Amino acid sequence: MHTFQNLGLSEPLLRAVDDAGYLAPTPVQDAAIPSVLEGRDVHASAETGSGKTAAFVLPMLELIARREGERVRGAVHSLVLVPTRELATQCGDAIERFGRHLSRRVKSCVVVGGVSINPQMMELRGGADIVVATPGRLLDLVEKNAISLSDVALLVLDEADRMLSLGFEEEVSRVLDLLGPRQTLLFSATFTTAIRALERTLLKNPVQVDVGPARADGEATEDAVDGSGRAMIPSTITQRAIEIDVAKRTALLRHLLEGNSWSRVLVFVATRHAADHVAEKLRRADILAAPLHGDLAQSTRVDTLAYFKEDPAPGDTRTRVLVATDLAARGIDIVSLSAVVNYDLPRSPAEYVHRIGRTGRAGKEGAAISFITAETDAHFRVIEKRYRLDIEHERLPEFAVTDAPVVRDPHGGIKGKRKSKKDKLREAAARAGATIAKSSPK
Ligand code: AMP
Repeated sequence: MHTFQNLGLSEPLLRAVDDAGYLAPTPVQDAAIPSVLEGRDVHASAETGSGKTAAFVLPMLELIARREGERVRGAVHSLVLVPTRELATQCGDAIERFGRHLSRRVKSCVVVGGVSINPQMMELRGGADIVVATPGRLLDLVEKNAISLSDVALLVLDEADRMLSLGFEEEVSRVLDLLGPRQTLLFSATFTTAIRALERTLLKNPVQVDVGPARADGEATEDAVDGSGRAMIPSTITQRAIEIDVAKRTALLRHLLEGNSWSRVLVFVATRHAADHVAEKLRRADILAAPLHGDLAQSTRVDTLAYFKEDPAPGDTRTRVLVATDLAARGIDIVSLSAVVNYDLPRSPAEYVHRIGRTGRAGKEGAAISFITAETDAHFRVIEKRYRLDIEHERLPEFAVTDAPVVRDPHGGIKGKRKSKKDKLREAAARAGATIAKSSPK
């Protein structure tokens, strides 16, 4: 029988776990917590919603609680690097929640960009047990001598694959250069070459943890990763693909919102402008909708997300819709998100897994609906092929598809469209090849 009591956590932490209503550890918690307490490095390929936050926060708090002596001025015991501000806040909240019964107060600081640096500098005076940070702001604080990372004993890289795909490589490696010997935990939902490289340079003899999604009953599911790059998509997510004309997407979205009794829906679009535009169109149709993207003030982002997450008043059955860019795809935990809609498709297959993983969490059912236009049809097939998905491409009787199918030339480019960078490189290579062939002696 897997229980939290068997994992080596002390009573104040068990009490907090109990307060959170967790009955049994999820597979990633079961595997990671004892290993972290033993001082081992861990690489967990834990997908969205697998309970990974508690998998590192609980043993981190336990290790801090076991420490003797006072905090050292300017020093940090544990450093958690995350890709987005929202994820940092969420992680900070989990630390507060799980640490609240410990006899010694754990000091944790969340340091992210987009807000004034001075309060963060003040907060870091005297050191901290835990710092949760996005890489850029952390480096700013190092430059201002507000923090020293040389004594970090435990490093957590959360959503490491997201961090690298967001272009944080250089900042992450600068942070890593500032650290001394320490214990390292690496979490990522997808296995990429870059992650494997990071694993080789960062981890010493790591414990490998490959698990499926969290279930409220703590049972493992059969969706575990096969370790070869296939994504782990929880079986709680029903995936649909609907073919639609570009101009009819908002009408289709409204149709879906009206036809389903969803409480919260996250709609992904490609640009900040589209997020504003679609949210506005929904609002005009009396739907509770708000945009979420990186152009908004940090306080607006926090308020929007809080409103979206909060429980509605009794009897309020209206659907709340958040129209977001990929900013919202990364690790945000919204309990009981009924559906994710890909109004615009994500750029990469990995991003698809992250987006749809916002729903169907912790054993709850969720729908993931992708809008397929004539132009994105081929791209969606790439996503399907990458993860061996078999999703029926539906057409709804109310929405006849009239956009002409996009014709592709044999090299994969779209006829009559602006050439992609790849097409141009291909052409340049072909031209160079021809020149060499011409000038080379017979
Ligand atoms: P995470 O992967 O950390 O974002 O967690 C996903 C969701 O699972 C969150 O809502 C957690 O509160 C929930 N969760 C985490 N661990 C457990 C557990 N042992 N039992 C039930 N729910 C859990």
